[in-house]
Amino acid sequence: MTFDPRLPLRGQKALVTGASSGIGAAIASAFGAAGAAVGVNYRSHPEEAGRIVEAIRGAGGEAMALKADVSREDEVRTMFDAFGDAFGRLDVLVANSGVQRDAAFAEMTLDQWRRVIDVNLTGQFLCAREAVRRFLAQAPDPSVSRATGKIICMSSVHEVIPWAGHVNYAASKGGVMLMMKSLAQEVAQAGIRVNGIAPGAIRTPINREAWETPEAERKLLELIPYARVGEPEDIARAAVWLASDASDYVVGTTLFVDGGMTLYPGFRENG
Ligand code: NAD
Repeated sequence: MTFDPRLPLRGQKALVTGASSGIGAAIASAFGAAGAAVGVNYRSHPEEAGRIVEAIRGAGGEAMALKADVSREDEVRTMFDAFGDAFGRLDVLVANSGVQRDAAFAEMTLDQWRRVIDVNLTGQFLCAREAVRRFLAQAPDPSVSRATGKIICMSSVHEVIPWAGHVNYAASKGGVMLMMKSLAQEVAQAGIRVNGIAPGAIRTPINREAWETPEAERKLLELIPYARVGEPEDIARAAVWLASDASDYVVGTTLFVDGGMTLYPGFRENG
């Protein structure tokens, strides 16, 4: 099959975690529109996942909802089994699920620390491990993609920007970055491409208080040289590219999609 830029994921089977809201929902929709069959993972809101699935199907695509808590080994395995039973193979995993449990460091409970590490880091480990097992067990299909499989780890600008009051979250994303790179190094020879996306400030439920009021948004914009808050679709377009053969030589890298947030905007007035 020749690469079709209008349907860059044609024939691919993709599982997106945390896909019932925010960035994950936008990625699932964009993947459907790009020609992929999509597994829409959710943890607790079947009606939201159902809406995403119906929208993809309504646009002529293929999709199914899959319930699983990504921090639980048994549920992750069952989810990948159900995906395989429905779609036959796996070409792309987007490990996107994530949570915040913010607290000043001295007040942070072990439960807050553990929940963030369990979902953001261990959840990505469990899903990526399951994906790698499936990629290695199935025959590559060059008519669908040059790579044997692709994994996209949803990171954050906080894989490099320290974040006071969010030590658990920044630690989880720093961990995601080196997990992603080490895994990419380990499996590239098997034709598996592992990459990360580091969003800046994207308008989703996870950070509502950062953009909800004009005052909060003005403060946030001071951190964004490009002078707008990102939208989930900004990340979805990057994910489609990373999952497609258009990025076939991109291996083990983090793609920052952040409006310049990692450019030390505090130095703008200081030249
Ligand atoms: P969101 O809250 O809308 O999405 C998070 C998703 O993860 C939700 O759908 C939630 O149900 C799911 N989830 C939470 N715990 C889960 C679990 N145990 N098992 C399965 N799913 C679970 O927020 P979002 O902004 O769309 O976040 C998506 C990803 O993007 C997260 O990894 C987040 O850290 C990352 N991110 C977001 C921003 C931003 O500005 N919004 C910036 C950088 C990184």
